[in-house]
Amino acid sequence: MARSFRLPLPAANPDKIRFPNRCVCCGAPRHADSTLGVSRVVQRKRRQEPVVLRYAVPHCDKCHRGTKAVFLVGLLPFLAGFVLLGGAAFVLAAFYASALGIDRNSVPGSANSLVVGAAAGMMIGLVGAFLFEGAARLLLLPFFGQALWQAPMLMTQFIQDTDYIAGLRGKLDPEAKHLLLTFNNDELAAEFARLNGETAVDAP
Ligand SMILES: [Zn+2]
Repeated sequence: MARSFRLPLPAANPDKIRFPNRCVCCGAPRHADSTLGVSRVVQRKRRQEPVVLRYAVPHCDKCHRGTKAVFLVGLLPFLAGFVLLGGAAFVLAAFYASALGIDRNSVPGSANSLVVGAAAGMMIGLVGAFLFEGAARLLLLPFFGQALWQAPMLMTQFIQDTDYIAGLRGKLDPEAKHLLLTFNNDELAAEFARLNGETAVDAP
């Protein structure tokens, strides 16, 4: 069972919060730190300010490597799908739009067909990226196991501003007043709660 905490900021800033001194995913001895990065743009006194927090989180060797693999395994097919399908859609849409004659009304220097092509390329590219990433996950599941399967898809991570590393998910609330942390491992979550005392409030 996963356990979530709702930690008030700035009490939960990276220099104030403590993680257990062992892997947050499986509890094995600490080998290296992975970075959990959370960010959000907030409105403060009529100005937009980005809030970016980066936490160094202990991982064992296996989970550290798994975390890096999850990112690459998601990112590479994502980019490939975007470039291949998006590129093809761009060329096709620009070609057909041009053949239909929409360039005749263009302002010199900006061809309408290219605008249509770019819009189509963007949309189909995102669909392609999603499909390729999903396919890569299915193929690689036997090699990376749960760390990969439990990670949210890259697209979801972009939309939700959620960062994921093996065993842990982090997210800022809309006003960036709280950090939401979810541990997959209950035992490590309990240790985290002990280490951080009053700051570690269970999320509803
Ligand atoms: Zn581990």
